[in-house]
Amino acid sequence: MLHNIIKNIIRKEYIMSEKYCYECGSKLIKKELENEGIISFCPKCNQYHFPMYNVAVSMIVINKETNKLLLIKQYGKPFYILVAGYVNRTEQLEHAVAREIKEETGMNVSSIKFNRTSFYEPSNVLMCNFTAFVENDKDFCVNEEIDDYSWFTYEEAKKYIRENSLAAYFLNAYLDE
Ligand SMILES: [Zn+2]
Repeated sequence: MLHNIIKNIIRKEYIMSEKYCYECGSKLIKKELENEGIISFCPKCNQYHFPMYNVAVSMIVINKETNKLLLIKQYGKPFYILVAGYVNRTEQLEHAVAREIKEETGMNVSSIKFNRTSFYEPSNVLMCNFTAFVENDKDFCVNEEIDDYSWFTYEEAKKYIRENSLAAYFLNAYLDE
C-alpha cells in the first residue's frame, strides 16, 4: 500500500519534471521526431514521452431567466470561485461541463460556449473555461462539495470573485469581451 503510494508520487514527479522515464527511471534525452519536433525520449525503453498533464473544465454558469451568474465557495475556503472539475479520460470537454454542473448543482445545461484555456502549473492542469447557460434555477440543489454559493449580477461577480485567481481571469475576460 505505502509502497504503491510512494511509487505513484515518484511517478507523478517524473511525469511533471519530464526529466526521467516514469517506466524505468532513466534520464530522458531530447530527440527529433518526424513532424513533431524535439521530444523527450527514453533510450532504455526506446520510447518517446509526450508531455502529460490533467485537463479540467471551469464554468461561468448563467441563469437565462435572471441573467445572474453562479459563484461558489469550496474546500472550506472563504472566497468565491467558478464551478469546476476534472475531465475524465476519454470524456469530451462539453460532456464534462454538463456533468460537473449536474453533479454539483442539479441543474441541466441548455447551451455552452467555449471561452479560453490557461495552463495552471501548480496542479499540472490545463484549465478549459466555458460559459454554461441554464434556463432557470428550478432544479438548483448544491451537493456536499459546495460550502456556499450566490447568484450575482455581472458587476457583483467581478467584485466578489477571488482576486488574482484563474477564475477571476476567466470571468473578467469573458465579461469584458
Ligand atoms: Zn524508460
